[in-house]
Amino acid sequence: MSRPRVLFSAKPERWDETRAPLLQAARDAGLPIDLAKDHPPQAVDYIVYAPNGGLQDFTPFTRLKAVLNLWAGVEDVVDNPTLTVPLARMVDPSLTEGMIDYVTAHVLRHHMGLDAHIGRAPGDWDPVPPPLARDRRVTILGLGALGAACAEALAGLNFDVAGWSRTDKTLPGIRAFHGSAGLNQALHDSEISVLLLPHTPATDTLIDATRLAQMPAGAVLINPGRGALIDDAALLSALDAGHLSHATLDTFRTEPLPAHHPFWHHPRVTVTPHIASVSRPESCARVIVENIRRAEHGEPLLHLVDRDAGY
Ligand code: NDP
Repeated sequence: MSRPRVLFSAKPERWDETRAPLLQAARDAGLPIDLAKDHPPQAVDYIVYAPNGGLQDFTPFTRLKAVLNLWAGVEDVVDNPTLTVPLARMVDPSLTEGMIDYVTAHVLRHHMGLDAHIGRAPGDWDPVPPPLARDRRVTILGLGALGAACAEALAGLNFDVAGWSRTDKTLPGIRAFHGSAGLNQALHDSEISVLLLPHTPATDTLIDATRLAQMPAGAVLINPGRGALIDDAALLSALDAGHLSHATLDTFRTEPLPAHHPFWHHPRVTVTPHIASVSRPESCARVIVENIRRAEHGEPLLHLVDRDAGY
């Protein structure tokens, strides 16, 4: 059997860190691959892909079998009309682990009121203990690979966790809601809301003035999902009015977040520069090679994107 030809199309620095792990994962799987950044399009079997590599036109790839996305989010490629082969996205244990760390850290910050202690002035002795986690309601919007894992981790810390998804779900220890009616129920008593939804036409600007108003006074919003889930102006108004007490934002409509953006300067906003989680090279290489192995053996690919749903 000839070695599958795999084109790597992503930012150059990603090639530097992922090339050796991909070749190693392929050797470990007993499936040597012919990996390069510059195969002629008509010779390519698989593309390891990130949109920031610049490839947009898949038409010349006449023998392409699948595109294997390096990222969890696929909003920049999912509706590409030139892509007619299966598209798989990244679901990777290291990505999930990192997101659990980010979400639990930022939920605990707000739950424990850590800012008040870190910034406490000398002599300010105001002994108000935080509530127990069991008395803190946290809602995760999006109960997929990342959201469900974060919900489970927070429930493991004893938080009162609700979640929201498109389809009906049963998750142990989580109050699960779905569909547009379920969103009101998920938000109305949520003291800390975490967005782990993909950006699709259905989720674009989901968190607008109406949704923000449904959150209880003093609520906190944490967004490691995608910037376009939120109406920025409505969020700033809700923060200015004191209806929301804080927003911790990792993702933005424009990245890097422009220097003049009010989020940088707002006292109730924490900006993190899209670092909530990344796939580690060794771990994501194993996921990609497993999908090549499956495709070569005629088995169904893992983590296939539903092109109609957009994620
Ligand atoms: P999944 O596809 O596994 O999960 C998506 C979840 O969102 C599912 O529960 C899905 O519902 C739900 N959902 C989608 N559309 C709707 C809708 N219209 N209404 C209600 N629920 C909806 O994605 P992941 O968990 O792997 O990743 C989620 C997102 O996290 C990514 O798309 C990306 O944007 C972001 N991300 C951010 C990173 C960062 O560093 N900031 C790193 C990695 C990812 P259902 O279960 O019913 O299908």
